[in-house]
Amino acid sequence: MPRSGSYIRSMPFSNSYARLPERFYAKLPPTPVAAPRLIKWNEGLARELGIAMLDVEVLAGNRLAEGSEPLAMAYAGHQFGGFVPQLGDGRAILLGEVVDTKGVLRDIQLKGSGPTPFSRRGDGRAALGPVLREYIVAEAMAALGIPTTRALAAVATGETVWREEPLPGAVLTRVASSHIRVGTFQYFAARGDEEGLRLLADYVIARHYPDAAGPREMLDRVIAAQARLIAKWMCVGFIHGVMNTDNMSVAGETIDYGPCAFMDTYHPEKKFSSIDEMGRYAYINQPRIAHWNLVRLAETLLPLIGEAQAQAAIDAFPSLYQDALSAGFRAKLGLKDEQPDDMTMVQELLDAMAANEADFTLTFRRLYEDALPDTFDAWRTRWQARLKDADRETMRLANPAFIPRNHRVEFALAAAQAGDFSPFEELVQVLSRPYDDQPEFAKYAEPPGPGEIVQRTFCGT
Ligand code: AMP
Ligand code: MG
Repeated sequence: MPRSGSYIRSMPFSNSYARLPERFYAKLPPTPVAAPRLIKWNEGLARELGIAMLDVEVLAGNRLAEGSEPLAMAYAGHQFGGFVPQLGDGRAILLGEVVDTKGVLRDIQLKGSGPTPFSRRGDGRAALGPVLREYIVAEAMAALGIPTTRALAAVATGETVWREEPLPGAVLTRVASSHIRVGTFQYFAARGDEEGLRLLADYVIARHYPDAAGPREMLDRVIAAQARLIAKWMCVGFIHGVMNTDNMSVAGETIDYGPCAFMDTYHPEKKFSSIDEMGRYAYINQPRIAHWNLVRLAETLLPLIGEAQAQAAIDAFPSLYQDALSAGFRAKLGLKDEQPDDMTMVQELLDAMAANEADFTLTFRRLYEDALPDTFDAWRTRWQARLKDADRETMRLANPAFIPRNHRVEFALAAAQAGDFSPFEELVQVLSRPYDDQPEFAKYAEPPGPGEIVQRTFCGT
């Protein structure tokens, strides 16, 4: 909890996005809330950013930090395959960017900060549950070593938001390498705004891919970053749930945690999202969808790079992804050298896991512990013959003991909603060291009991 006297009210903001032309955003401040109360401050992340604790009034959007030029970003996007030419930040405000201790520019954004010109029929607000959910999962992903936006703070607003029921409101302070999405490029492409596209590409190159010589190489970098990211998701059983193009970051970070989930029982077709009826964004579909989204990005760049270049860039995705995936699974299996049939061996294990309804995370952790259940004996014999000397430390760091299991997340959110934040605090603490055994928290490594299984997740927007 915050120490009094350590608050700051000004920030060394860069406001580089605000320097782009006015059609890139709508400038407006966050809308104040009734009774802000700090729920959580991420001191480790604050240190990484080189900033002191922010006043709760700033984190709630009730007062602007000096130097901030707040804005809502414009973007478009394909949602479940259908194109929406204007989405934009309907419930988020970019306060500005800060240079972190490594010299990297990071966005500071409030999410749930009130209506904007992009809100359409939404109220611009966020409920406590989804805010804490994003806090838990984003920070867990970061600890797992998976590129992600981060959670700097969560604040209760003292206001009620109306969804299917009245819920307590909250604001999340989100930190990102940037909030530029595939959908941001689509916004300008849909308007035939070639100058806008060029300026956006220049901005993305300068900020994320300074070694890229132009938009073609920028596209290569985005494709490579996404191939690596999706492979990492697949290696931990993460299902994003809403892989719309407006939820895909050009910086290659996981962004917009809605009805996301980590699988307990392994099944390739697993999906959790209540709004994903067709399973478009099911576990096994994620690489194909990423590729599809990146084709949408490439299309926006046609006026700048032409068809042949766009196609060549796009065609690289499958092998970049396969390379990243097999590197990831080789690490999980402790295989140091690469052999042609490695992925066959992985697939055989996954098939056996599906047939036995095995827990994804636990099976791989048991593999690292050399404590795989007997059901996998036949596979283990082949694996051991292939293994020679297992790289145990690589295996440990590729097979987490702790993931944000759905039943633990739900329990923490329900308790928080009832005013008890201790399960949330404990869960965040456990998940900050996913690869360590933490015997005192062993129960968090366990799959849900029969009565605890979460089948559906909701985005709660
Ligand atoms: P999401 O499904 O959260 O990625 O959001 C898709 C679009 O809906 C984005 O443009 C959001 O800004 C907008 N949106 C989501 N929830 C709200 C809300 N409560 N109020 C206004 N806009 C929203
Ligand atoms: Mg979104």
